[in-house]
Amino acid sequence: MNQKALFIIFGGTGDLAYRKLYPALFNLYEKGYLKEDFAVIGTARRPWSNDHYHEVVMSAIEDAGRDSGRTNDDLPRKFASHFYYQSHNVDDVDHYVALRKLADELDEKYDLQGNRIFYLAMAPRFFGTIAGHLKDQALLTKGNGFNRLIIEKPFGRDYPSAKELNDSISGSFKEEQIFRIDHYLGKEPIQSIAGLRFGNALFNSLWNKEHIDNIQITLSESLGVEERAGYYETAGAMRDMVQNHIMQIVSLLTMERPDVFDSEHLRDKKIEALENIQMYTKEEAKKYFIRGQYGADEANTQLGYRDEEGTDNQSTVETFVAGKLITHNPSLDGVPVYIRTGKRLTKKSTQINIVFKNDDQNIFAKDASEKLKTNVLTMHIEPDQGFTLEFNTKTGNQGYNLSPVHLRYRKTATEKAQIPDAYEGLIRDALMGNKTNFAHWHEVSQAWKIMDVVREAWDEEEPAFPNYASGSMGPEAAMQLLADDGRKWVFNPRS
Ligand code: NAD
Repeated sequence: MNQKALFIIFGGTGDLAYRKLYPALFNLYEKGYLKEDFAVIGTARRPWSNDHYHEVVMSAIEDAGRDSGRTNDDLPRKFASHFYYQSHNVDDVDHYVALRKLADELDEKYDLQGNRIFYLAMAPRFFGTIAGHLKDQALLTKGNGFNRLIIEKPFGRDYPSAKELNDSISGSFKEEQIFRIDHYLGKEPIQSIAGLRFGNALFNSLWNKEHIDNIQITLSESLGVEERAGYYETAGAMRDMVQNHIMQIVSLLTMERPDVFDSEHLRDKKIEALENIQMYTKEEAKKYFIRGQYGADEANTQLGYRDEEGTDNQSTVETFVAGKLITHNPSLDGVPVYIRTGKRLTKKSTQINIVFKNDDQNIFAKDASEKLKTNVLTMHIEPDQGFTLEFNTKTGNQGYNLSPVHLRYRKTATEKAQIPDAYEGLIRDALMGNKTNFAHWHEVSQAWKIMDVVREAWDEEEPAFPNYASGSMGPEAAMQLLADDGRKWVFNPRS
């Protein structure tokens, strides 16, 4: 199914547009979701010609590795011919008048029926200005066509700033017209959480406080801050990873089953799940949330965060967060969700571990202290994609001994290559008006409220950084967090 639309990309000369948006739009064109009735206006400050813009779009496709093995060599050029460049300063009202004129012309030329998607690939401080001018200068379609706004993180630095940002766009766009990208929601293994939970009687019937002991979410990176120090110094791991990506995953794992699998029902259940996460006092936040910053590795071959280029040598920015959240959603009431993310950890891996409760009765025990090994379901998100189910089975011929075995399913390289890039899927969803994989304002705001308490608690004390060595799995306190509850992290790679 294809859809007619005019895309207006603010920040058309930027990194996001070049690396992600142009290749994603091309893939949609190649697959037929966009046919000849679409157009793109790219706007930014640079004075580019349309011809130059076409060259940039074609080279973006080439750099994304999407120009090889194609039978139709003309396709990128044909695709790029739908692109129009308009030099534009977001503060200048006259430019919106010119933009409206061009938009109306293209609407007519390509018969776009007034369908408009405004993609703000720019810093959020511009969102309010752009949204206001789009409305005032009548760029929003009035007829039967749709107006959709796509925006990118960061959605604020805390709840008050997120609300201010949201208020600044909500005068022009209604919530149902706003598509907030959290690119984790565009990843197929994250989308499969709902399928695994609600598409299998086996897991659906076990997904409750009677059977789940705890849930663990790890987003670990082996790289350091690399060239993102400037941004990272103003953000840190909590704002970069926890408030958005991890909290979205938490909501998908703890939500109740929706009656119907559609974006409205899913959204309601996710909001409810986030509202049912226990709100901590500052004292509890200090106890249940651990922050860390990497130092050099033991052999001193890797720099500590404070010595990286572009960071403050006394920086108190966290590069690691671990925490315990407690859900009070009815089915999982009281079940702890341990979360963890960090840079320069032992191994790159995003994974979710569902740790099931042990059977109290071990009929195979040789003595009373012998416990069964815990059953664990692991969802591998990246770089591996798939599942591992750990369970006990009889081994050996002598006596009746049980040992854990791993039932593994992994997507092959070929299967992985066939999965569309997150941006391709998300832009296709926005084009089709499907909001399932976008973050609703209530989700974003509730996640901030939960995290703001932690931030406020942390801000009361100066952290003793650095507190973990590059190549380790973070500060000792992150291990202790689980040990205090008589548990341990399932994912515990050795360097
Ligand atoms: P960038 O600096 O590469 O691009 C910014 C764009 O905004 C450029 O096209 C620039 O010309 C334009 N611009 C800046 N000021 C302007 C003005 N006054 N008037 C008109 N145009 C102006 O940034 P980016 O990396 O493309 O990121 C854009 C946004 O997307 C940021 O908010 C970023 O946090 C977010 N984001 C980026 C990525 C990524 O992969 N690059 C990923 C997630 C989120």
